[in-house]
Amino acid sequence: MAHIIPEDGTLLPLMEEFYTIQGEGYNTGKAAYFIRLAGCDVGCHWCDVKESWDAELYPLTAADVIIQHAAQHPAKAVVITGGEPLMYNLEYLTLQLQQQQIRTFIETSGAYPLTGYWDWICLSPKKFKAPLPEVALNAHELKVIVFNKSDFLWAEQHAQMVSPQCKLYLQPEWSKVNEITPLIVDYVMNNPKWEVSLQTHKYMNIP
Ligand code: SF4
Repeated sequence: MAHIIPEDGTLLPLMEEFYTIQGEGYNTGKAAYFIRLAGCDVGCHWCDVKESWDAELYPLTAADVIIQHAAQHPAKAVVITGGEPLMYNLEYLTLQLQQQQIRTFIETSGAYPLTGYWDWICLSPKKFKAPLPEVALNAHELKVIVFNKSDFLWAEQHAQMVSPQCKLYLQPEWSKVNEITPLIVDYVMNNPKWEVSLQTHKYMNIP
């Protein structure tokens, strides 16, 4: 039977949750509890979590249970990712986390309306479903995955959508990391408003 997901965000399709180190972007190297919500219709062909796309495969889990699990870990920070987590109303989950002094970070394509209370919003836009301007304007970090040379122009177009304070990162797509990293290095040296982001968790063999 299909999931009926309550609009108040008290039940969410949870694919997996784990305590690890944030491997990429601004918060690289910091311990955090990862909450991966299932469901995504963005359809990136290089997606490395395609098993997250179908939310029906995963149990609806009480947000209160997820919060209890997160609170058991020493780092008082969560990264809510997916899938595309903004497919769901995240107000309840994030408000309760913040009330327990747990900082809330999100990784999103920005393709859905922004809900929730956030200490850090990482917008990683995707070609297949454009980010909404409201998400771009609220982003603390713009992280563009570079798959080929034309993506630098695409990155600049998205940099126009974010606030002046937003941090700008270029990250090589993992399957082309050896080919793309030198291009990013050159680009960042010539355009230093951008910084390099690497998927350091893949080098460390951690999730
Ligand atoms: Fe995969 Fe993220 Fe793209 Fe969805 S938005 S298809 S989860 S990379």
